[in-house]
Amino acid sequence: MPSSTELPRNILVVDDEPYIGRIIQLKLESSPYHVDVCQDGADALDRLRTEDPVDLILLDIMMPNMNGFEVLARLREMPHRKTTPVIMLTGKGQSTDREQAESLGASDFLTKPFSPKKLLARIEEFFTD
Ligand SMILES: [Mg+2]
Repeated sequence: MPSSTELPRNILVVDDEPYIGRIIQLKLESSPYHVDVCQDGADALDRLRTEDPVDLILLDIMMPNMNGFEVLARLREMPHRKTTPVIMLTGKGQSTDREQAESLGASDFLTKPFSPKKLLARIEEFFTD
């Protein structure tokens, strides 16, 4: 039975800004990561409803159509996604959003703009025992 600690480490980036997903893919492509990107919350939920392995989710809060809070709430209702780590991507000055995201089951936060080094360090924390 596959465990989440086995390689590759599948990361799903959900962000409406294309360059965010591209930066993360570029930074992680030489590591043992496989990165997929969704630019829309509904698309991300469609993906998450499948049994595709997803070991960690990077989820933007500010998105049109469906924001990150709603995506988070809905994915936590999926039995197979209840404990998947979710790092919320927040803009500056959104500190009050943290409480709401935490109550919905967010695991961590990363404030934009973030350095690739910080991103990698934050992600590694979830794969280190
Ligand atoms: Mg956004």
